[in-house]
Order: sequence, then C-alpha cells, then structure tokens
Amino acid sequence: MKSDIGTENDKMNNENQPNEDSSGSCSGKKKMILIGSIAGGIVVIAAIVVIVVLVTKDDDSSSSSSGSNGISWEEAYEMADKAMENLSNEEKFNLLFGEDNLVSMREGVCVGMIVPNDKIENFRGMCLQDGPAGVRISANTTSWQAQINTASTFNRTLWTEYGKAYGNEFKAKGINVALGPAMNILRSPIAGRIWESYSEDPFLSGEAATYIIKAIQSTGVIACAKHYVGNDQETNRKNSSSNIPEQALWEIYLEPFYRSVRDADVGSIMSSYNDVNGTLLAKNKRLLQDILKDTIGFKGFVMSDWWAIKDNEVINFNSGEDMNMPGGIDEGSGYIGRDKSHWSDYHTRVGTEISQDRLDDAVRRVLSTMYRFNQLDSNYPNVNLNQNTITDATKKLNREAAGQSNVLLKNANEVLPLSKTKYSKIAIVGNDAHPTTCNSISDCSCKNDTNKIFQGHLGLGYGSGTTTFTYIKDPLTAIRERASREEITIVSAGSELEITEETKTFDGNGNSKTFTVGKEKISEAQELADANTDIDLYIIFLMADSGEQYIELETSVGDRYDMDAWHNGNELVNAIVTKKGSAKILVVINAPGPINVPWEGSVDGIIFSGMGGSESGNGLVDVLFGDLNPSGHLPYVWGTIDQYPAVFNILGNYTYYDYSEGVFIGQRYFDKHGKTPKWPFGFGLSYTEFEFSGLTAIYDSTNKQLVATFSVKNKGTIDGDAVPMLFLHFPDTIKSDCDGGDYPNKLFKGFEKVLVKAGQTNTVKITVDEHALSYYSVSLKSFVRPSGTFKVYIGKDASDSALSADVTIS
Ligand code: BGC
Repeated sequence: MKSDIGTENDKMNNENQPNEDSSGSCSGKKKMILIGSIAGGIVVIAAIVVIVVLVTKDDDSSSSSSGSNGISWEEAYEMADKAMENLSNEEKFNLLFGEDNLVSMREGVCVGMIVPNDKIENFRGMCLQDGPAGVRISANTTSWQAQINTASTFNRTLWTEYGKAYGNEFKAKGINVALGPAMNILRSPIAGRIWESYSEDPFLSGEAATYIIKAIQSTGVIACAKHYVGNDQETNRKNSSSNIPEQALWEIYLEPFYRSVRDADVGSIMSSYNDVNGTLLAKNKRLLQDILKDTIGFKGFVMSDWWAIKDNEVINFNSGEDMNMPGGIDEGSGYIGRDKSHWSDYHTRVGTEISQDRLDDAVRRVLSTMYRFNQLDSNYPNVNLNQNTITDATKKLNREAAGQSNVLLKNANEVLPLSKTKYSKIAIVGNDAHPTTCNSISDCSCKNDTNKIFQGHLGLGYGSGTTTFTYIKDPLTAIRERASREEITIVSAGSELEITEETKTFDGNGNSKTFTVGKEKISEAQELADANTDIDLYIIFLMADSGEQYIELETSVGDRYDMDAWHNGNELVNAIVTKKGSAKILVVINAPGPINVPWEGSVDGIIFSGMGGSESGNGLVDVLFGDLNPSGHLPYVWGTIDQYPAVFNILGNYTYYDYSEGVFIGQRYFDKHGKTPKWPFGFGLSYTEFEFSGLTAIYDSTNKQLVATFSVKNKGTIDGDAVPMLFLHFPDTIKSDCDGGDYPNKLFKGFEKVLVKAGQTNTVKITVDEHALSYYSVSLKSFVRPSGTFKVYIGKDASDSALSADVTIS
C-alpha cells in the first residue's frame, strides 16, 4: 500500500498525547524487527537500529478489495473531489450529519439518514442501518445467529458465506451502510453486548471480523466496524472511562479494528460512547486521527455512535469524527431537522475554527467510500426496509451456522446423540424451549409489555443489535418434528412463567434494586415427572439474557447482574435431578455467554447453544440427533464471575474501568493467576474423537510466516469437523520489554476447521504471519517481531498441548 497517510513524524508527534498511558514502559532493547503500521524506511530510535516495515496491505490488495468494483481509493478520492467541486460548505456538512433522528424507530426509516443532494449524480442520500444480527426494524428479514455464535463455529468458509448472505439482504433493502460487525472484547462474561461481538481473544476477533467484513463488502454494502474502542461494558457506557494500558490497547482492544482496516479494508468505523484514558472517544484525536487514520491507515469514514456528540464545540470534528449520527442533539422528536444538530452551524465556522481541509477530508472519505462500492449508481436499490429477503438459502445457512455454533460441553453416558434405540419418551422442560412471545416486540426486549419479562425461546439478545423476528423456530417444535420421524414421544412442561419481584443488592455501596422477573413454575415440571414415570431423558432448557443499556429487562440493565440462569433455572434442574429416577438429563443453555452450572455433576450432558437467531431450534435439533456432528468451540474461557478481572457496579456514577490486567485477558488471566476454569477457551466436544500427531514447525523467511504442519486422525466411526488450535509461547526475552515485565504464557494465534472422515487422517497446515508473531513494544511504540525461540503448541483447546515444537527465528 502506498502510504500517503501516516509518516514516522506523525507517529513521533503522537507520543505526547495527554491520554496516553505510558505505564510500565520497557527497557532492554535488542535488535528487533519493528512491524509498525507506519511508513516504511529505516529509522534510528534510541541508538538502536531497527527495520520498520509496513503492516498495512500490499499496494494492490486494497484496490482489489471485493465490493470496490475495481475502484481504488485514489480513483475514488478523485471522483469524490470532483463531486465536491460545486458544493457549498453548508451542502458539504449536509453529507456529514443526519436530519432525521431515530425517534420512534419507525418501520421503513433507517436509524441513520443522510439527505439526498441533486448536485451529486445519483446521490439519493445514505441509509445506515443496524446491525450485527441482521437488518433491524425491518419486516421480512433474516434474524441471523448472534456474532458470538458465528465466532464459535471457527469456520472461515461459513463466515464468508454468512457475510455475503447478510450483505445481500442489506443491499436488497437499499441500505448503504450495515452497522456491523461489532468487535468489542469480552473482558467480562456479564458485559451486556458480548453476543454482538466475537470473543475474548483478539486474534479470533480479528480473524472473524476480517472474513465477515470482506464478505459483506463484496456485496457492495459498506460494513461498519464498531464500537471503536473500549466499549466493553454497558454500565455507564456514556459516563465512564476505560483506562487501558498502552500494550493492551494495541494488542487486545485495537487489534480487531486494525485487522478490519489492514486485511478487510473496512469502509466505515463507529466511535464508541465511552472515554478512553479520560478522553471521550468523540473528542479523542489520538485514537481517531493519529492512531486510526494516520497510523493504522484507515481510509474510510468515522461516524459517532448515536448522540455521542454531546456539544457544539468543534473539537469532535477536528479530532477526526467525520459523521455525526444520527444528527440531532438528543433523542426525541424535538431534534429533527437541520437546525437541531450540534453541527448545524459548523459551515459558518470553516476558515476559523474548522479548516477547509478537514471539512473536505471528511466529505471525501464519505463520498469516496460510496464510489468505491459503486453505490452512486442508478442501479443501487432504493431504500425499502421491508423488502422480503428471507429465502430458502438464508434459512439453510442460518440453520447451518446455528447448528455449528452449538458447543457440546458434556456428553457422559452417551446421552447424545438422541436416537430411538436409546430413548422412547423424552421430556422437554423449561420455558426457554417454548415459542416466544417476545421477539416480535421492538428490540426483542418486551419493553412495551406491561410485564417486562422475557417469555419463551431466546433467539438473540436485546437492543439495537437485534432484529424484528419474522419467525423463530423454537426448540420444542423443532424437537417434536424431528422426534416424530423416530417415533420418540415428546412430553413437555413450562410454557409460562410466573411473574414476581426480586430485590438484588449491589456490593460495595449498599444499594439495592427491585426487578420484575419471571420464574419457572417448577411444580408443573414435577407433575409432568409424576405423571410420566417412563420418561427416559429430560432435556432442560435454561436461559439468561443481556443487551444494551437503554433497556432494563428482568435483572439485566444491559450488563447481566450475575451469571446465574434466569427464571430460577438452577432450582428447576435440582427439582428434576430429584425426580428423574433412572432417566438421564441433558441441559441446553441459551445465553449470551457463560452461566453458573452448580448442577454440572448431576446431569449427563450440557450443550451451550448461545443465541441462534431464527433457526435456533432447527440448528440445535441437528446436533441433538446427530444429523450434524457438533463442532462449535468456546470463544472464551468459562469460569465463575469471581475468576474474571472485571465486575461492574450497576448503580455507579462516572466510572473508571481500570483494565489493570493488561494483556492478561480471558484465558490468559486464568493461566497467570492459576485459576482453573470450568471449561477452557476453545473447548468443544464432538461425537467422534480426534488425535493430533507429527508436528513440524518452521519459519518460512521468504513469506515471513511460521508454518506448522501436523496430522489429524479421526479415531471414531463417524465423520467430524476437527478444530486444531495453535498457541504460541513468545521468547522469554521480550518480558522485560512488556507492561509489568510479564507476557502471557500462551497466545492463541491460529486454527483450522477440517472435516476428517471416520478412521481417516488429514494433514493440516496452520500459518502465523509476521504481525501475529509480534508484540507491542510500549517503549518503541510499535509492533515488534522478536528474534529468539518461539514454542508452538497444537491442541484441541487452550488447556491442551498435545503437540509442541520450538522454532527459532533470527
Ligand atoms: C448503539 C449502536 C447502534 C446505534 C444505532 C447505539 O445505541 O450503541 O451499536 O448502531 O445505537 O442504533
């Protein structure tokens, strides 16, 4: 890539930014190769000769980015400049903030709208629409699986197919910008929006983001990487600072955005609501301009999160915010129209407080992105959010993704797969198995219900990231249909919840709050057991939900209150354990992330089904009956809440979230502090067993990558998808150059999903590129690929080191 933005000088000038955390800076430099996202060249830093190489893409790869219709950024910039020639500054600003204001989430109206302008050929305005699970506030649309489910498939081919299908729906509805994917990091399992993003792990998040953005953009729709950055909790998201040490900022929290720019050439990025290290993102020049645009090389446009621009000071625009969304100064019908925006008088301030260059740069970024994706073309569809985009193909793909995302956590006594030979009468217990009464209501929340509780099957979490469900296949119906083919009798209990109140107290400040909650009618399940003494399997459905902070649902105000199953699910399991006789028990969990499993030892099987979208029940059934061999893996470590570094205080005022664990996040935190998880990162069982052997690992200096080759044998009698994972131990010499003088023992850096036929052996190759072989040196302010000996581990999850080899790289 010709780096026309970002020079070493820019980078050096950034070093005195006030909000930079320079704690734990390092010393003890050796000869190192810098893999900085800065302009190429040879530089001398502190008397150390280092080679600086670009981490942005090759010259031609960005212009060949799919969806760009062959138009390079340079060409698109020229087209944008030409289109701008006849525009007044007022008209230019009209391209940068909306005049409609998402007041009532009206059907057919996009959540973000830029008005049309006749002076630009074919510019019919711009429609920006949520979100990561599919087209929001739209009829006849696919409710895709949650993104955390997408990640847990560990399947790049499926990511690509899904991204294309998702993008095609947005395009068919005339949407210009799909407000997804989200890629915030799962720092805490109770964070409300973890289901909208991918993982605790930066490599997995970056990899999923890359494949999915490329696929979305190949359809001609502009993707939006969000929420940049540090919006890793909902509690006080608009009134808090995520205090992130520098090395963790780069290696963990920026990483998926970095990959979205470097590898997927994402067209837009949404800045988040929170402060980072004390500076509001919308005013954070260091993060928006210096790091994102000048250093990482982002060429598209940055929009604010909705109403995150809080005042009329021009600092937000001058800091690099290109678009103010939705435009109004606050939510509400009083803020519709051009004069109701914080930016409405900005055109009068050009030449004094705002430079003409900054204005033209913002407009150029917006228009050129549209040109690159061929959106300023008469053939681009007009906005029609209710256009029917559900097809047999989307249903099939959603079912496939939902199925592949199921993670089999326990399978004792061959409880699974289900079959006629094992079972003749199965009891389905738990309200979560039943058809839902909630998912058709705005934002999936039951907000408008008098009884604010969630009834029925959980297909997605709540908030802007969800969709209006056209349909949802509940597990009970799906199991009934499939079981009838086997002549297995299905009985069930738990179609309605009891509504009650529960008071929760919050640690530390003595506050309490009373919530309206649902409770399982446990006596119904007990009566079912008494009336059917011939039941040979109970499948108990448990759930918990979370979402965005503007909605309170049962005990979640965005973030979950705790990790217990909702609707007194633990009590329900215990009641069945007491009643079951000789029957087996399988527990299915629908939730955004881990829940407490105190009954684990008393049940035979556990499936974590997450949030599967419209085809959730069908996807689950495929796994239950063995039509699909389970191949989902946890994209996070599963422990109890006290084992994670982050807990939120729901009733706090302005909050400082200190990311003091640094790069020791998730599984790495457990490893460092000797905590034993319930299940490690990457865990997931199959109905068959795999064996890895014969690892060869080398460094290919021509292609600058580490290459691991090994064999995967399917030892069982049925075909299955194996997901071997690669972890790296970095040379110990880097520790002194890291925050706190320490570095994680093992980092996740690669995987492959491979179908291995029963009894057969496949050869698998995993490569690790130069960036993934690098760590972020705080003192050198760049990624550094160290010299020395790396240890390569291949295993089935983070706790498994089945194979290992040393690779020395000079
Ligand atoms: C969310 C964004 C979303 C936007 C528009 C905000 O509340 O944080 O993710 O895209 O609303 O609906």
